[in-house]
Amino acid sequence: MDRIVRELFCRTGASRGPGRLCLMLDFDGTLSEMAPTPEKARFYPPSRRALDELSRLPGVTVALVSGRDVSDLRRKAGLGRAVYCGNHGLELPGFRLPADVEAAKKAFRRSSLPALRLLREISSRYPGSRIQRKRFSISLHYRALRPVAALAMERELGEAARALARMPGVRTGAGKKVLEVKAKADFHKGAACRLILERRGGAGLYMGDDVTDEDAFRSLRGRAVTVFVGPRSRRTAAMRRVPDPRSAAALLEKILEAAGRGG
Ligand SMILES: [Mg+2]
Repeated sequence: MDRIVRELFCRTGASRGPGRLCLMLDFDGTLSEMAPTPEKARFYPPSRRALDELSRLPGVTVALVSGRDVSDLRRKAGLGRAVYCGNHGLELPGFRLPADVEAAKKAFRRSSLPALRLLREISSRYPGSRIQRKRFSISLHYRALRPVAALAMERELGEAARALARMPGVRTGAGKKVLEVKAKADFHKGAACRLILERRGGAGLYMGDDVTDEDAFRSLRGRAVTVFVGPRSRRTAAMRRVPDPRSAAALLEKILEAAGRGG
C-alpha cells in the first residue's frame, strides 16, 4: 500500500496542468461495501471522511466515476467538492463530450420510451422481474425468477433484443440474468477519466472493482496509477491491487496523510 502512495506522489512532479493530485474512484464495491440492492449501498465512513478532506485541499481533484445516474451518485456520496461522472462516463456535468457521443445520447433518449414500453410489456408477464431505468440505460433483471420461468423469459428477451437493436441509438447486452439496453456510444469510464485528468491535471489515481473499471485501467495505462479492488483470483489490467473497500479506505487515508504533509 505504501508502494502505491509512493508511486502516486512520484508522479506529482512530472504531471501536467495546475493540479497536484487527481483521484478518480468508482463508488459501489470500491467506496461502499457491495449491497444486495443499489439502494442499500452506503458510503464507507472512513473513505467518505478521507475523500471529504482530500477534496478540500488545494490542487486535489476528487472524481466519483460510476454506472449510477449522477443525481443518484450525488445523493449517495454527498461530497460537495467532487467531480461527478455517471452512466459509465456518459454523464459528466461541466465537461464537453465528443460530438458523436452527444449525438448517440440524444438518439438513445428518443428511443428509450419505445424500448421501455417493450421491456415493461415482457416484464409484466414475469412476476419477480424488475426494470431499472437510468438516464442512458435500461436494465431488465430476472435473477428472482424460477429456472423454468427464467428460461422462457430469456427466449423472449432474445427476440426483444433483436427488435431493440434496430432502434436508433440503442445497443443491447446480456449479463448475468439481466438484459441491458444502453446508448450506442463509443465511450466508457476510461474515456471520461482521460477528460477529467486532462482538464484538472495532477498525478492520477484510479480505483475500481468491476468489469467497467477495466476500461479505465486500460485507458489510463501510463497516465495514472490504477488499483483494482478485489480478490487475487480475478484478472485485471490494473497495476496494483487491494483486497476490499476497507483497504481502499486505508489507502485513501494514507494518501490524505501524505498530501497533508506536502507529499
Ligand atoms: Mg464498482
